[in-house]
Amino acid sequence: MSRIYFDHSATTPLDPRVLDAMAPFLGGAFGNPSSLHHEGRVAREAIETARAQVAALIGAEPDEIVFTASGTEADNLALIGAVRAIGKPGHIVTTSIEHAAILETCRFLASSGTKITYLPVDHEGLVGPNSLLRALQSNVSIVSVMAANNVVGTLQPIEELAHLTKLHGVLFHTDAVQAGGKIPLDVNQLHVDLLSLSAHKLHGPKGIGALYVRKGVQLSPIIFGGGQERGLRSATENVAGIVGFGAAAAISRAELEEEAIRLAQFREHIANELSQRVPHSYVFGHRTHRLPGHFSFGLRGHEREVGNLLAVLDREGVAVSAGSACSANHAGQPSNVLLAMGYDAEQARGLIRVSLGRFNTQEEVDRFLELLISVTGRSFTAAASQTPQLATA
Ligand code: PLP
Repeated sequence: MSRIYFDHSATTPLDPRVLDAMAPFLGGAFGNPSSLHHEGRVAREAIETARAQVAALIGAEPDEIVFTASGTEADNLALIGAVRAIGKPGHIVTTSIEHAAILETCRFLASSGTKITYLPVDHEGLVGPNSLLRALQSNVSIVSVMAANNVVGTLQPIEELAHLTKLHGVLFHTDAVQAGGKIPLDVNQLHVDLLSLSAHKLHGPKGIGALYVRKGVQLSPIIFGGGQERGLRSATENVAGIVGFGAAAAISRAELEEEAIRLAQFREHIANELSQRVPHSYVFGHRTHRLPGHFSFGLRGHEREVGNLLAVLDREGVAVSAGSACSANHAGQPSNVLLAMGYDAEQARGLIRVSLGRFNTQEEVDRFLELLISVTGRSFTAAASQTPQLATA
């Protein structure tokens, strides 16, 4: 029986249509987009088409898109680039539940004097506008709040938070790596100045990201060289990756509305079945204000057995995860996101994340539910005894 992949928050399979769009640029169309001859112009044209496709996904102008090598690099460029352009260490306001790409960048900037304020979140993972308002009373250079959380799927009220930030004349960045292509995003409606995206979260290739930079926003580069990407990201462009990102953005944009409804129905079905048939299960994150295909939950009294449960599911052909893919590097540690949401260390070790994507079907959801319910009905520690323990957080 074929495997069931339910870990789309970690990464997504490449859409075959994206692969088709990329193929010429992995073969005959190998030109350097900076070259003036025919081969170079073909590559340049493909990059500019992709730039327009990525821009259209978020309601931006094509010349506001800077291609980077990842979502992580886009986050680094946003924060380090903004602080360097301001010319003093300044003050960043962010949240305690950001991805490591933001938290570690803040840690780096703090080591050279930048003040960092971490906004708290409530039990569902939401940032309160009042805590942002209080933080804005001191001199702030940039606010960075993620659009959708990678561990619990909660969506932040970005429009409201960015609007408050703009009233104070402060830059607003959002890490939209998890949200891009899954929920509607319009940079003008949201009032954001900087927004990070990553292609591999929307059925595009790995190793290509983008930063939206609103016209007029000053950023300094963090990589130096030949001056590509308007001097903001030197290096010969990853043409095939950029073309793949463009194709993935165009497909996501065209299918977003229908796909969001379909995935939210799957998510609700899982939530309802679990609440009825696994009474000791409980949901993490906001019940409704969350990514359409994202469902994370715990099993009361079985928090320490999550690694075994995931191992059993994996052996039976189902890929789900415990928190973020990065958390697998910190096996056994409680999730910092759940701790920030007020869960105790025991519960914060017990998260199971199911994240659905484009090629998942109702039949897969049903197979997964039957398996999960049957496994949780017996001792999955015993069931896992023949299975090597997976690294999980
Ligand atoms: N930001 C968030 C919210 C993420 O979930 C991730 C990846 O999981 C990143 C940033 C990093 O993106 P990339 O894998 O493209 O470096």
